[in-house]
Amino acid sequence: MSPARSETDAAGAGLRAVVVATPPRAQDLGSVSYWLESLGPIQPRPSLQGDLEVDVAVVGAGFTGLWTAYELQRRDPTLRVVLLESEAAGFGASGRNGSWCVPELNAGLDLLSSRFGRDRAVALHRALSATVEEVGRSLATEGIDAAFDRSGVLLLARGPYQLPLLEEHLRSYQNAGISGEYSWLDRAAAQARLDVAGVEAALYTPNGATLHPGRAVRGLAAAVERRGATIYEGTRVLRVKEGSPALIETDHGRVRAEVVVLALEAYLSQLASYRRRVLPVYSLITLTEPLSERQLASVNWSERMCVASMRLTVDYLARTEDGRILVGGRGAPYNYGSRITSSSEHHPATHANLQRTFEEWFPALRGVRFTHSWGGVLGMPRDWIPQIGFDREKGVAFAYGYTGHGVATTNLVGRTLADLITGRDTELTALPLVGHRSPNWEPEPFRWLGVRYVQRALARLDARGVRTGRPLRGGALARRLAAH
Ligand SMILES: Cc1cc2nc3c(=O)[nH]c(=O)nc-3n(C[C@H](O)[C@H](O)[C@H](O)COP(=O)(O)OP(=O)(O)OC[C@H]3O[C@@H](n4cnc5c(N)ncnc54)[C@H](O)[C@@H]3O)c2cc1C
Repeated sequence: MSPARSETDAAGAGLRAVVVATPPRAQDLGSVSYWLESLGPIQPRPSLQGDLEVDVAVVGAGFTGLWTAYELQRRDPTLRVVLLESEAAGFGASGRNGSWCVPELNAGLDLLSSRFGRDRAVALHRALSATVEEVGRSLATEGIDAAFDRSGVLLLARGPYQLPLLEEHLRSYQNAGISGEYSWLDRAAAQARLDVAGVEAALYTPNGATLHPGRAVRGLAAAVERRGATIYEGTRVLRVKEGSPALIETDHGRVRAEVVVLALEAYLSQLASYRRRVLPVYSLITLTEPLSERQLASVNWSERMCVASMRLTVDYLARTEDGRILVGGRGAPYNYGSRITSSSEHHPATHANLQRTFEEWFPALRGVRFTHSWGGVLGMPRDWIPQIGFDREKGVAFAYGYTGHGVATTNLVGRTLADLITGRDTELTALPLVGHRSPNWEPEPFRWLGVRYVQRALARLDARGVRTGRPLRGGALARRLAAH
């Protein structure tokens, strides 16, 4: 190794695999989520065979890697681009998510304003808002039918304890001067949009979409190939030696690249040098059978908007093209040492809780069957703020830390990384996520103790709110908890 190089290996001790559990082989991709199952049999792409030299090697073929490759190809069709994917395109969060394509980050506008100043926070919000449109446009340009539907976002306060949290949302939009994009709905107006039991009030914005993540991510992979990139599936990156060129060791050969793009989100935590940068957090989903028009009408569910309440432990819903209702939320415990295991994707208590949530929200729909349950990992940085970076000397670009808000954000990231890599100064490269650095997570066992404490505290606060009906200042509390 030349002195100019530093090394990023998979586990700190030789060539150990990055993903701890044995994930499904590409042929079994359908078993990881309804979205991938609904595509029918998926033909695995070949693995890398031997050594290669390219301009850009992207590690990870989820939305981050694919949008970055796509935008690079749009800017410079002569670039030799490959993607190295340990399982198959869409295997990670991109093929499993809750289908929301919205201009929000987990870090709210108040937090972003306090960190970067109001103007830069609002510039980021505007860029994300435009991104929702851009996702729809790019999918259409590539002829990808991903059921993209712009029906907006409905945020609900269910029970009096959630009302202050919803008001806090509205206040943060007012502080940022963008509250005109949101309508406050009283109980009757909220129930006219969606008849949810126990709703107190709602905030609605038309700026948000849902899509079929499976069709989007696999369609995008095919689009990137049509434009000349090669995707090697079943090819696990074991080690990256930074430099010019950088050297990537995989379990199937080595790749020399002028630029390596680390597009691994939660899986980045499995690389020794990045272990404490991002926390892998499990997010789980359950899905009903298709509902009839009559059933949907019984709860006024006429549009495919994104719906969520202010529950601290997160609950969100969406409606698929064929009338299924998806319910997602957190609850599966963090694994010691940031371990990622396929067994954590199935946490019966959390899945049962999500199904109970559905029945509590819609008593009229009790008895509806749940046909699918699955889960995946998302990446959470210590301050909840995503990071985008490129170090030309080291030859390494990266973006991660979307904290469950990556479907739209990854498109913005792809365009931003492509601008950075091709050396353009643009409005995107001036966004505050570029060059932002979150603090590291604590070493173990403090990480495990802290995260488990916060997970339990949030669940307790939710339970107390439901039991007593007493208002919570939980948004602020949650931020305080997450900041420690
Ligand atoms: C259950 C769930 C629900 C979600 N719901 C939403 C939502 O509704 N809206 C929203 O905006 N966001 C949501 N998210 C988050 C969103 O899906 C992600 O932020 C986004 O998909 C991240 O894309 P990515 O490409 O960065 O990461 P991923 O899609 O995770 O891709 C990373 C890829 O890297 C591969 N990989 C891992 N290790 C290696 C290695 N060593 N070598 C090569 N390849 C490797 C993986 O197989 C994977 O394909 C959700 C996430 C989950 C898990």
